[in-house]
Amino acid sequence: MIPNNSPWIKQLNRTRPVVPLDKNVRADVAIVGGGIAGVVTAFFTLRDTDKTVVLLEASKVAHGATGHNAGQLASYFERPIWELVEEFGRELVIEGQRSVESAWILLDQIVAEAKIKTPSYKFTGYAGLSSFDQVVRHLKNNRYRVDHDLLPEAIMLAEHWDRLADIPQEFKDLYTVAPQADLLKLLETNNTDYIASLSYQKGCMNSALFVEELVGYLLATYKDRFSLYEGSPVKTVTLAQDSAELEVLIHTVECARVVLCTNGFEHFTIKNTAGPDIDTNFHHLVNGRIGYMSGYIQPLDQPPVAISYFPKTNELSADPTGESYFYLTRRPHEHEGKNSYNLVCTGGPEKVLPNGAEYIREDACSDDSKNAIHEFLRSSYAKHPGEEVEYSFCWHGLMGYTPNGVRCIGPEPCNKVLLYNLGCNGVGILPSLFGGLRISRFLKGEHVEPSIFDPHDQRVELGI
Ligand SMILES: Cc1cc2nc3c(=O)[nH]c(=O)nc-3n(C[C@H](O)[C@H](O)[C@H](O)COP(=O)(O)OP(=O)(O)OC[C@H]3O[C@@H](n4cnc5c(N)ncnc54)[C@H](O)[C@@H]3O)c2cc1C
Repeated sequence: MIPNNSPWIKQLNRTRPVVPLDKNVRADVAIVGGGIAGVVTAFFTLRDTDKTVVLLEASKVAHGATGHNAGQLASYFERPIWELVEEFGRELVIEGQRSVESAWILLDQIVAEAKIKTPSYKFTGYAGLSSFDQVVRHLKNNRYRVDHDLLPEAIMLAEHWDRLADIPQEFKDLYTVAPQADLLKLLETNNTDYIASLSYQKGCMNSALFVEELVGYLLATYKDRFSLYEGSPVKTVTLAQDSAELEVLIHTVECARVVLCTNGFEHFTIKNTAGPDIDTNFHHLVNGRIGYMSGYIQPLDQPPVAISYFPKTNELSADPTGESYFYLTRRPHEHEGKNSYNLVCTGGPEKVLPNGAEYIREDACSDDSKNAIHEFLRSSYAKHPGEEVEYSFCWHGLMGYTPNGVRCIGPEPCNKVLLYNLGCNGVGILPSLFGGLRISRFLKGEHVEPSIFDPHDQRVELGI
């Protein structure tokens, strides 16, 4: 059995003791969840308002999805833009995409203001496509990007691909044609199934290390306005007209606003004494999916990169209607006290967490997933060292998927005392930064423009 062993957690080297809530406390704002969403929400709230903030984390800061992800910095939705446009309309979607892209700057701001030392790398990322449908789907997406002044993807198609002539005329200005060998080189593969490559801005960082450093900065900078309690699971959130009370261990937290940054809605009940019931089936609409990853160490002889591979078949996905893919990152990594290594991480396999089932972080890694990743790398990643490779890391983490594939950021329509910044939908690092800033604007009392991230009224959602 291989334990859940994440390289990001291993790098933490934390010395801060876990301090659980040991008394009743009051704060203007209670944030539930100490992942990147909760800690960044605390950062912007403390920076941009004069409010007191208490952060409550059930286990340890950054040990949730933030410590068990692929660590890719990416600023796209997992759903195609044109599909979102059909649901939300053009303006809101374009603005939503711009908001997610604004997180690149927010990350730089946080790093500069909090003097974060965690390295982050920015580079061109690539994706390999292997079917006509995938190519058309991405071209259609690019049409929206180009027509609405969003950052376009550079798309290259193989010149001898037998479906080249079938690409609809409306997309002709959106791609270039090149020898297949050129695009296979970008994709670092010898697998000739790949007939198209996309390039787009990407990056990577250890989001757990970033969060651990950021929370240290908040504790040091806002001694009189910020407190953190770990090992402090919230059991109940009781909402009144203008306040909330949280039940945590044997104590209570009284606050004016409460922000859920829990990734999903797990492990607690919400009682709304000042409006319609919120603790209904609605919570089960955020679906859990377990993502599995493996990583191995290599000499530091290649630059950092992020490459996604969309194979011909869709066997990997937890969602058979969705696009499934393997994603690989390579980045410098400190190993055995030396900086002369790269870490190559690959993920792809996912499993749906059945409704009501509990995700157990301590569960062993699945052999099936490990074998699937190994088989993929062996057959498709040209720089893979082969059978003798030793995977130093093997890990899994929980992702929260909202029904519409869009992060949920903002006040609960049934009681505005409660706010959300959650639902990663696969890509959650940069969106949670933007979410943190947006939440701080609500807390400040600003007029915040409507967006695709606004929480839906559960009564409409459930048809009641
Ligand atoms: C395998 C995998 C790969 C991924 N790859 C990428 C990627 O490459 N790029 C990307 O952008 N995103 C990726 N993601 C998603 C990304 O990691 C997440 O969106 C992001 O880390 C989520 O941060 P969060 O703060 O919302 O959630 P988390 O980090 O999960 O934090 C939520 C916290 O809430 C706490 N909590 C829950 N319930 C309670 C309670 N009742 N009381 C107190 N605390 C509670 C949990 O203990 C947890 O620490 C990936 C995720 C996984 C699992």
